[in-house]
Amino acid sequence: MRKYIAIFIMFIFMLLGFTQRALAEGVFKINSANFDTSSAIISLVSSNLDDLPDISDIKVVKLTNPTRVYFDIPNAVLGGQKKDWLFTTAGIKEVKISQFSSTPYTVRVVVNYDDNFDVSDIKFIKLKNGIFIKLKNNIAQNPFMQNTYRDDHSSSNDFYEYMTISSVSNPNETIARIDSAFNTGITPQYSQELRLNTKYYIDKVMAKNGMITLTGLGSVSIEKPMILSNPSRIVFDMPNTMVNKSLRNKDFSLGGTDTARLGQFSVNKARLVITTNNVTKYIPVYARDNQTVIYLNTDNLSNLEIPGKPVAISDFSNRKLDDMTSAMTLNFSNPVIHGFDRTNSDVIVYLYNVNNFDAELFNKTFSKTDFTSAKLEQSSKGLKLTIPIEHDSLVTTFLGMDGKSLKLQIKAPRTVIKDNADPRDSELIKIPVLNKPKGSDGKYRVVIDAGHGGSDVGATRNGVYEKYITLDVAKRVEKMLKAQGYGVLMTRSDDSYVSLQDRVAYSEAYNPDIFVSIHVNSSTSGTPNGIETHYYHPESIPLAQTVHSSLVSTISANDRGTFKSKFYVINHTTSPAILVEMGFLSNTAERGQLVTAERKQATAKAIVEGINNYFKSAQ
Ligand SMILES: [Zn+2]
Repeated sequence: MRKYIAIFIMFIFMLLGFTQRALAEGVFKINSANFDTSSAIISLVSSNLDDLPDISDIKVVKLTNPTRVYFDIPNAVLGGQKKDWLFTTAGIKEVKISQFSSTPYTVRVVVNYDDNFDVSDIKFIKLKNGIFIKLKNNIAQNPFMQNTYRDDHSSSNDFYEYMTISSVSNPNETIARIDSAFNTGITPQYSQELRLNTKYYIDKVMAKNGMITLTGLGSVSIEKPMILSNPSRIVFDMPNTMVNKSLRNKDFSLGGTDTARLGQFSVNKARLVITTNNVTKYIPVYARDNQTVIYLNTDNLSNLEIPGKPVAISDFSNRKLDDMTSAMTLNFSNPVIHGFDRTNSDVIVYLYNVNNFDAELFNKTFSKTDFTSAKLEQSSKGLKLTIPIEHDSLVTTFLGMDGKSLKLQIKAPRTVIKDNADPRDSELIKIPVLNKPKGSDGKYRVVIDAGHGGSDVGATRNGVYEKYITLDVAKRVEKMLKAQGYGVLMTRSDDSYVSLQDRVAYSEAYNPDIFVSIHVNSSTSGTPNGIETHYYHPESIPLAQTVHSSLVSTISANDRGTFKSKFYVINHTTSPAILVEMGFLSNTAERGQLVTAERKQATAKAIVEGINNYFKSAQ
């Protein structure tokens, strides 16, 4: 981040063609303030690189009503005609940066925050061209990390930077040029603030045998590549990235029949398509400053030049971020050059300029952690780290701003119960004796729980509400079950609000044979799609498996598996209980299907079939 902001600034100065008027000797003139919401880092950057103030004595002062802290940066002045910078974000309500006084020059930062904010998390760091203030330590132990790779294809809005244009002879032309480089998306008036929507600007491409090198300003992130056929090709998307117009849509030869083409896929995303019969051979290699990335055919590894002296690993750490997410951090004596590969079964990190590590320390750090099967070994060039993962794991990687640390964050998919269920549960499974229906009338009794309702709308996207879909499907299930001779209790039959506690209470009073809750899934990312079935108590596993396999065998949707999940209604009911997630509202294509009568009817029918099979198997 430090580098790209520095270069943004230099780039702007180049464009503007003016030299900065010296304000006063030895004063830190802040030209740009950036708030990276993804990692809660404020960066204050100057072009007069020699005048960074001493930050060792900065004191954080805590105030109440409203809860806030402030701290003063000594000997600093906000540049240009800039008044105040104001940022708002979740968790931290507001960050305000302003000139507190001119004699002496002092810039004050005030942070208004929520109750869960930990003031002791605030850290200051001085790098070559600026001051970085990390507000929340929610990312890593080394708090100054930039995202380099992500499995998640969410279109990220986690970056923005403000910049003020002033003292320019032809502001409109300047603004137009900055807009074309950084996709500001607005045409501000002279002297107004520009909001930059990209964090990486590709302005140079070099292709040679088995590799294509992209060089730019900023910091590159790469999403999980897609592999396509006819012709065989691999597609790398780079979010928050702009491509110089003169480089777009040209074919670059990579030797043999391999070619590459770089394009601006959307306003905020660059796309590199490599057409090759060796799609699995191409991996990204990140330069130590993360401004250059080489897409390398690993067969041509010998062509990769590694400048500088070999680097050693100085430290490892493991951190459990939550039930499903763990992070491995590697620290290096000097900036690392790494290549990254992610297959369906492994994450592989090549540390090309690293030659030395303490194997004993590695094993000690990661034994009995989620990384216990990770392997670090010598490779043909440097070291190779292999971490086994699940196919559906979510991998995110970060590179320290100083290039000296690498963090690999892996979120495991929820426990997928394979054919024979979780072995830890298998001893506990007692399939309930079902040949005697609980109803005194000799009918099997089923509770159908339509998720949400009334003021609780559930998931929503594009005007589509989960509560209506769940009720519609639940009613279809009710109708079919009754027609087949089941006793059915609906926890709600109209668009009214029913608390989770009441749903459980209604069910318990009815004393059913089974309980089936119907929901629609959603995710912050638009990518996930498909059907999940959840259970909590082991004795609910047979029901979950029967209904789930009926659903995925009759509906053409992604099979996401069955999960042990602690949802309230399936945890607190005493009969075998499951919760079906019929699909994702957050996935545009699946949302389109979920609202159709066909999908609703097919889902209802499959649930009923599954219930039939469940009772049949018990007879
Ligand atoms: Zn729901």
